[in-house]
Amino acid sequence: MSPFALTSLVALTVLASASLLMGPSVWLAAVCGVVVAAYLAVMGLGVANPRMGFFLRMVCRGAPGEKQVALTFDDGPDPQTTLPLLDLLEKHKVKASFFLVGKKVDDFPSLAQAIAQAGHTIGNHTFHHYWWTNFLWGKPLSKEVTLTQDAIARATGQTPHWYRPPVGLSNPHLGRVLKKAGLTCIGWDIRSGDRKNPANAVMGRIMDKTRDGSIVLLHDGGVDVDQLLELVEQLIIRLRGIGYSLVSLDNMMHNLAGEMDYQRSAA
Ligand SMILES: [Zn+2]
Repeated sequence: MSPFALTSLVALTVLASASLLMGPSVWLAAVCGVVVAAYLAVMGLGVANPRMGFFLRMVCRGAPGEKQVALTFDDGPDPQTTLPLLDLLEKHKVKASFFLVGKKVDDFPSLAQAIAQAGHTIGNHTFHHYWWTNFLWGKPLSKEVTLTQDAIARATGQTPHWYRPPVGLSNPHLGRVLKKAGLTCIGWDIRSGDRKNPANAVMGRIMDKTRDGSIVLLHDGGVDVDQLLELVEQLIIRLRGIGYSLVSLDNMMHNLAGEMDYQRSAA
């Protein structure tokens, strides 16, 4: 049973027991109030912090013991940054991962194709990247996911196995939608802050937090191209300098594949 289902069951059991034992009274209202508040708090935590796994399993790190780091780029493809970034990765023989926005894939299919042809991992980052995606359920949520799968398949011939939610939030319906689409949810263990901070601060933050199997959240959409290229080149040099290999998510997650297959069938 999932933690979400378990929480719901506990909340309902407490409510039912209180009703049976106490009858209608002020105390019952108080107990109900506390249970509902606790339930909402748990729901809120589950939405805001998917790593807690209330609604679905989110993979946020590769296998400990492997000296590997995965650089992941969200919100592209982007006509200003994606091609120069691909050139830089090619120059250093680095494989990375790109979580693409379906609408942008439809607008710039050749960029998505270039990412795939270079051998990087491609993931699904919803079709519109609405900030409120995580409040959707049913068909609208499902459409955000499947339209993006279709757009990526049309442009690249590949169907992604990985999904990253916009803003990193989850919701109680997401697990079911992802399972149907054959997707595993991927988070990160290092949020770089690359959109808000100067390159040296971003670099310091990443170098401080890097550990075996780290997944680094970066963006190739909505960022300054020169700053991005400078940051990524320095990251590659410095991470390799302390012994890390830079790998794609497909490569990093190879060791976790058995466990994830289990998660898919058990979800
Ligand atoms: Zn995003």
